[in-house]
Order: sequence, then C-alpha cells, then structure tokens
Amino acid sequence: MNVDRYLKELSGSSQRIPTEQSFHHFYLNFDEFKRPIDEIARRSQSMLESIGVTTHAWNTGVDFPSDIDDAYEWVVDMNDELLEWFDESVSEVRKAREEDEEFEEVELENGFGLVRVKKEGAGVGKKKVEAAGTTETTKPKVSFHLATVRKPQDVYDIVVNNTNVPFEHIWLEKSEDDQRFIHPLEKHSYLEFVDKNLEGLMPMKPPAMECTPFKLVEDVKGLKELAAKLRAADEFAVDLEHNQYRSFQGLTCLMQISTRTEDFIVDTLKLRVHVGPYLREVFKDPTKKKVLHGADRDIVWLQRDFGIYVCNMFDTGQASRVLKLERFSLQYLLLHLCGVTANKEYQNADWRQRPLPDVMIRYGREDTHYLLYIYDQLRIKLFALSKESESSENPLVEVYKRSYDVCMQLYEKELLTEDSYLHIYGLLGAGFNAQQLAVVSGLNEWRDILARSEDESTGFILPNKVLLEIAKQMPVTISGLRRLTSSKLPYVDHNLDVIVNIVRHAIQNAAPFEEAALRLKETYAAKMKEARLKAAQEASVVDTAPVEDGVEASHLLDFEHTPEEESTVIDNSTCVNISETLPFSYDLKEDCSQHEDMNGQVKIKSSCLTLELPQVVGGPIDAIADALSGDSASRNRLNPNEKVKEEIKLDRIRMSVKLEPVSAAVSADTVMIDSSIDSGCMTQNNLLGSE
Ligand code: AMP
Ligand code: ZN
Ligand code: MN
Repeated sequence: MNVDRYLKELSGSSQRIPTEQSFHHFYLNFDEFKRPIDEIARRSQSMLESIGVTTHAWNTGVDFPSDIDDAYEWVVDMNDELLEWFDESVSEVRKAREEDEEFEEVELENGFGLVRVKKEGAGVGKKKVEAAGTTETTKPKVSFHLATVRKPQDVYDIVVNNTNVPFEHIWLEKSEDDQRFIHPLEKHSYLEFVDKNLEGLMPMKPPAMECTPFKLVEDVKGLKELAAKLRAADEFAVDLEHNQYRSFQGLTCLMQISTRTEDFIVDTLKLRVHVGPYLREVFKDPTKKKVLHGADRDIVWLQRDFGIYVCNMFDTGQASRVLKLERFSLQYLLLHLCGVTANKEYQNADWRQRPLPDVMIRYGREDTHYLLYIYDQLRIKLFALSKESESSENPLVEVYKRSYDVCMQLYEKELLTEDSYLHIYGLLGAGFNAQQLAVVSGLNEWRDILARSEDESTGFILPNKVLLEIAKQMPVTISGLRRLTSSKLPYVDHNLDVIVNIVRHAIQNAAPFEEAALRLKETYAAKMKEARLKAAQEASVVDTAPVEDGVEASHLLDFEHTPEEESTVIDNSTCVNISETLPFSYDLKEDCSQHEDMNGQVKIKSSCLTLELPQVVGGPIDAIADALSGDSASRNRLNPNEKVKEEIKLDRIRMSVKLEPVSAAVSADTVMIDSSIDSGCMTQNNLLGSE
C-alpha cells in the first residue's frame, strides 16, 4: 500500500472542503451540500457515541458529550488515548519479540541444571530469567500505581517536612562548628568489620521458604519481639520496598528482615513512627552484620523515614562488583548461587497497597531470605581471591570499604533552586527558546510547590513529558492546554487556569532566559558532537561491562514515574543542597490559617505557601554548564564519590554569586488549589516516639 500517495490525496481533497464562512454559506443555501453533511454528521455522532459507550465500559473513557465544545475536546482526548494504546501495544509486542531473541541457556554454577537467561549484554535496565522447562507466557503487567489505594499519609497520619530547607538529621550529633552531622560510623574503621577467619567456613543454606517461620509485623508488640530476636542475632539481612510516586520525598512501605532461621516483613507504613525507636539500636550496633544488596538507596531511606543509621554492612552488590561477576543484580546471585529463579515482576509494584497480596509478600521475603547464604558464598569467594592475588589489595577488605562508604552517605532532601528546571530530563534536546524556557521554569516552580504541600511527587503533579510539551506549545487558552494534557492528571485538571497564567506570564517575562536558551543550544551541540565521537570510538572497542544491581540499572532510565511511562522511579533524595547559598525559602504568611492536628503537629493549608524569590542579579545561565554536565537521571542517583559531590557543591556555590532574578510567575495565589484540602507539611519528619 502506498501510504504516502493516499495521505497526499487525502490532504489534497480535504483542502477542497470549504472552510468557515464559505462552509456556512454552502450549508445554508444549498440543499445538495447540506444533505450529505447532515448524513455525515449523523453517522459520525452515532459512531462517536458507540465508541464512548465502549471505552466507558473499559473503564477509561467518558460518554460522548452533547455540548459541541466538550465534544471537540472529547474527540481530541479519545484520539490521543487511542494512539497511546496503539503505541503501548506496539512497544509491548516489540519488547516481547526482542526478549525472546535475548534468551540463552545457561548451566547453573552449583549443579541446578539448565536455565534460560538473558544473553549477556542484551537489553539494559531490565532483566528476565526463566526456569528451564516452563514456557514463557505474557505475564499480566504489574502496575506501579494503583489509583484506588488511599494515601498512607492520610490513613496513618504520616506527616513529613517537605519545606524547601535541608533535611535535618536530628538523630545525629553535629560537629563542633555546627556545620555538619556526624555519622556514628565515623568512630569506626571499616577494617573492624572485615571477617577475621574465614578458613573452613561453610555456606549455611537456609531452609525452603515454606519451611521457614514467617512473621508479618503489623503491631508494636511484633516489632518488640523482632527487636529482641535481632538483639540475639549476629547478622541479619535487610531490604526495603519503597514508593516514590505518591509522595514528595518517597515512602518506605516495607522492611524485610531475615535472620538465619526466620523471615520478617515489617509494615513500615503502619508502624512508621515505631520502627526507629525499636530498631535503631541494632542497626547501629557495630558488632552485628547487616547484609543488603545494592544498598545505596536503602541506606538513605532508613535515615529519612526512621532515623536509622547503619553500621557494619556487607553489600552483596558491591561484592559482585569486586568479584567482577557477569552481572551485579540480586536476580543473578539468586540464580547462580541459590538456584532460585526470582520473579522481579513486583519490584516496581505499588507497595503501598494493603492488605498485601500473598504474591507480593512472597516476593518481598525472597529478597532477603537467601541473602545471608549469598553473603557466605561471596565471602568465601572473596577470601579465596585474596589468597590467590599477588597484590596488596584485598578484595574482601575492598567490599567492606565500599559498603562503609555506602553507609556513610547522608540523606539529602531535594531542594528547589532557580536552576532546578535545567535538570528536567529531556530539556537539553528540546531546543527551546527563551519564552519556552521561561515556561519550563515557571511550571517547574509551580509543580514543586504543589508537590511539597500536597506530599506528591513532582511527576504525579505534572510529568516531565507533559511539562515539556506545554512549554513547547505554550498554550494561552484553557482549551488549548486541555488538548495537551490528559485527564489522568488531577492537579493539572484542577489548575488549568493557573497553568495558562503561568504560560502567559512567562511569555511576557522571558528576557532573562535569552542567554540560557543560547547556552543550552550550544551545550547540546557540543554534547552531540562528543557523543558522535564517542560512538565512533566505541564502534572499535566493544565494552562489555556488566550493569545492574538495582542501583546502577536505575540510571539508565529517566527516573520519573508518569502515568504514561511505567518504567521507573525518581530518586529525588540525592539532589545537592545549596540552600545555604540562596535566599530561597517558604514563608508562612501572617494570615495563614494554621492549626494543630491530633498529634499536636502543625499543619498548614497549601494556599498559604509563598515562594520567596531571590532578589539578586545575575542569570540562570551560569548554572547550565553544571546542570548539563550530566543528565537528570544521573544527577538523581547517589554518587558514592564524595569528592565529586563536593566539587559539584563548590561549583554551585561559586555560581550562586551571579544569579539573576527568576520569573515571578508563581506567587501565593497561583499555588492555590482546592485549599479546602489540608496539606501535611511543615513539621519535622515524624521520627518521634519514645524509646
Ligand atoms: P529492591 O532493592 O529491588 O528491593 O527495590 C526497592 C525499591 O526500589 C522498590 O520497591 C521500588 O520502589 C524501587 N525500584 C527498584 N527497582 C526499580 C526499577 N527498575 N524501577 C523502578 N523502581 C524500582
Ligand atoms: Zn533493595
Ligand atoms: Mn526488594
């Protein structure tokens, strides 16, 4: 079929249809014109109505509206939706096909027979392992977001401090000059944690999960019992499940713990304020080994949600790296060291749901059940390697050193700075002019303020993709805007007028963004050139470095959850904090209605939030070089290299000297949404509770 030709013909003939005035003229005066038009209208109407009914039945659409303006919107929305479904289906088929081509048969290291695994280097970021003998079926997709789940923040009165000020590690001592927090590990050397004698150590294989006692810890009594058991143990394995999409900083939903003989899962949403008081001590105890896999994010989540700081940790992900294993994922270790085919389908599920389905409990247990056994085997391998190696470098010591560094990281809250918008994924290649950049900046501020006050992720308020599309099109009317956004975005839906105002304001106040636009384009060109050079070089040298241990894999993805892109999560925990250098803060207005909730914690209404914009001269452009030195995904990742982090910090401090006023598009009233809704924020993170 010659599609091009048909399209040309179609567009040619569509041009012959009379438009606007002449259409009306023909329609009113010529019956020969009126009759077929009426017939087409009747048929279209009936077709659209039946589409409306069908999609309604699929629970996604709404009935075809009778109002003509609404009908137009409806058609546009429905079109978008259908195209989206089509897109999704095509990529699903393509993915399935690619995955099929990526499998190969592999022999298990410890004699468990043949398994079907992904070929080395095939696809990145995601992996799939399948036991031999079972046939591959398309599994139902597990959704990362269940809209029906009531927000745990409401159910369990979880109140967090999302204000635009650095996170306070209230459980840590501060240095004499009050400038930094002191991690309890600072008193220790990693050498203290290195296993003294591994000669003759036999890996201790755990009993099957079915034969292992399991406890779902949902009350304080259970937590107390767990703490007692951990006090009696020398070592235990830990993992966390987390939700990033429906809160600003992220919420730890579960804590899985396995000892040598038992598995536990703590409901950390329900027991949030109790976890720290009961478990802080065992996690800090340097005589107890904590085994985690790819612990970078777990370590800071523990600090943020429970005030837990870990001493003496063995990271099986780091061990995989030091041992230079083929892959660094837990899935790989489970398969090759335990003969267990892990089903990673639930990794990205909505862990806020309660009660947890049995399959998800099982998945959660699997993440820690075998971890001490894996730890044994890895230690033995590392020990053997250190005996073999001639050099002074001791691989086992190296693992403890790296694990120590992971533990030493401190959680940092994401702060809004005036160059934050430059880190938005996809901006660099967008080729925006000053007006469009001004829109990006304005929308970015708006969604940030709303996300903080409503305790939602910025991606839930306004996904990057939609933000960039609005900036690209710059709609100045509500109907124009509605055409760009889907009804899946409640905050956008309720603030169409506010967004349009931000766009209008930005268009009129875009001058300070001229230079930024120019620099962005230059940087992009330079980056492209660099990338082409690199690609040419890589064509000759094939790099087969393995990826993935849950930390590394994440940087391959745009770490933002959007309803459209199901792939990932944002780790907004790692943004460098420069608030000390910027007069940027939220202010409680005098007339702001403030009240105390039942816990005596202060809550304020979102409409009271104002953003104090810095009154300095300079330009947002100075931030660009730094902002673009890595994509937003890599910025959002924890950088274990403290030195690099320090450098970035210093750079930013230098830059802040020449900052220009940013768009004042966002003011107190533009943030006003349903201000009847209480927004929990402004109080210290709830690390309260009696010890
Ligand atoms: P894990 O360390 O595999 O237990 O993952 C812990 C949490 O990190 C999960 O509950 C997810 O919230 C998040 N996570 C892990 N892997 C991914 C991924 N590939 N995409 C999105 N989120 C992920
Ligand atoms: Zn984990
Ligand atoms: Mn897990």
